[in-house]
Amino acid sequence: MGFDQSQWVWMNGELIPWQEANVHISVHGLHYGSGVFEGVRCYQTDDGPALFRLEAHLARLYASAEVYGIEIPFTRDELAHATCELIVRNEFTSCYVRHIAFYGSESLGLYPGPCPVEVAILAWPWAPYLGVDGQQSGVRVTVSPWTKFHSRMLPTTAKGCGQYLNSILAVRDAVARGYDEALLLDASGHIAEGSGENLFIVRDGQLFTNGEDDSILLGITRASVIDIAQDLGYPVHVDTLHLDELMSADEVFFTGTATEVAPICEVDGTQIGSGKPGRITTEIQKVFFEAVAGRVPRYRHWLTPAAAVMEALV
Ligand code: PMP
Repeated sequence: MGFDQSQWVWMNGELIPWQEANVHISVHGLHYGSGVFEGVRCYQTDDGPALFRLEAHLARLYASAEVYGIEIPFTRDELAHATCELIVRNEFTSCYVRHIAFYGSESLGLYPGPCPVEVAILAWPWAPYLGVDGQQSGVRVTVSPWTKFHSRMLPTTAKGCGQYLNSILAVRDAVARGYDEALLLDASGHIAEGSGENLFIVRDGQLFTNGEDDSILLGITRASVIDIAQDLGYPVHVDTLHLDELMSADEVFFTGTATEVAPICEVDGTQIGSGKPGRITTEIQKVFFEAVAGRVPRYRHWLTPAAAVMEALV
């Protein structure tokens, strides 16, 4: 997991040792999941460790917070600097970064109004979420018996902590039945997303992914992959996805910050395409990894080198 390699945590404005980054058992966020979070990856580049699409992730953090009335008592710039400082201080070359803002301790009434907002940033080395092997050879997925909640229940475009109980039910069921990941359908029976990933289908040299009306989180990796695919000359269609389209696809893959780009080789015992990572998936994966490493000039603006941000402050 790599938690043991992390020495410092940024919490409410200061860097503190990992062991001291604690909260009281009475925090609202623990009881009701009343918090919002982000996951960002930091990659090794020639300019040192660099955060991939930090601005987009922070924008989504503040948008998620707004949905739940969580007033983050720091500016976006302050959190961006804090993120870079945390990485430099921990001496990480690459890592995963977790931002969280949640209602703290004051009341356990459901109305969170009186509770202070606490903010923390963690960083630790984290291997690809579905495994290096899964990323290279493809993952096995099952359609979940759990339905992805509809945005009229909880806004799927926000990363609310408690929202992830839905994902936890789905992934626990999938793992118990021997699969790598769950695929959730929405309330209409159309494809929504993985427990923590967006989905792309490849058919006849074109890409298909679903959109905001399909009960998904609008993934930042998804947006990056749409750009990469279009730049490579592949048309990308954003529309509702049906299960039969998935089963008959040439290629299918997941995208997500933790997962990066991972081919799906099987859905409930049905092989997808050749059962091996497809040509277009592999091509997109390759460009994605070049981009995050800062080796593609046209995507370099997606990267925030941590040390450069710190030096600019001195
Ligand atoms: N869907 C869900 C439910 C997720 O938790 C994630 C991970 N944040 C994604 C999709 C992928 O989003 P991103 O590419 O921004 O990490």
